[in-house]
Amino acid sequence: MIEVITARCPQNHPCPAVHRCPVDAIVQNGYAAPSVDSDKCTDCGQCTYMCRAFTEQ
Ligand code: SF4
Repeated sequence: MIEVITARCPQNHPCPAVHRCPVDAIVQNGYAAPSVDSDKCTDCGQCTYMCRAFTEQ
């Protein structure tokens, strides 16, 4: 399961992982820390290579 560690996100830019996710599971409102839709996420791990805010639990 992927979790976003909010404290690791500077929340000052568009999340580059949003477009990397193959199933569009990452949602970001404005520049806020993104969230992962666990119903869509397949645990592929791509986002964890993009940013250390995404962690595999
Ligand atoms: S693990 Fe894969 S499917 Fe899940 S949020 Fe990250 S990029 Fe998307």
